[in-house]
Amino acid sequence: MDCLFCKIVEGTIPSKKVYENEDVMAFHDIEPAAPVHVLIIPKKHIATINDVAEEDAILVGRIYAAAREIARELGIAEDGYRLINNCNADGGQVVYHLHVHLLGGQKLGPLLA
Ligand code: 5GP
Ligand code: ZN
Repeated sequence: MDCLFCKIVEGTIPSKKVYENEDVMAFHDIEPAAPVHVLIIPKKHIATINDVAEEDAILVGRIYAAAREIARELGIAEDGYRLINNCNADGGQVVYHLHVHLLGGQKLGPLLA
């Protein structure tokens, strides 16, 4: 499949991995928008949040559990952080493999600034 993040999961495109378990992986964003900017993805290809099925509920929960672990490991859990999921054109989605942005390491501005 011609999907950038599937290739990162396969290892054919390199990434700076920060977390991995059986069904979730996370790596640093190539163009960080904050001191900490990690992308958390399911290993399984799901294009957008619109394509999440009922049977993916546990998987989506694991993405958020991974976010919590990564924030703790990177030392930003207490100060705080932001999780973002962009969906389709109006949401600003560029890569069509589901991902949650984990942003932190500084006080973030207003959401839509
Ligand atoms: P979206 O706008 O789809 O929510 O976010 C896609 C994100 O993927 C962007 O923040 C962009 O910088 C990041 N990105 C695009 N290509 C690559 C890549 O090859 N490697 C990594 N690590 N991040 C990428
Ligand atoms: Zn994919």
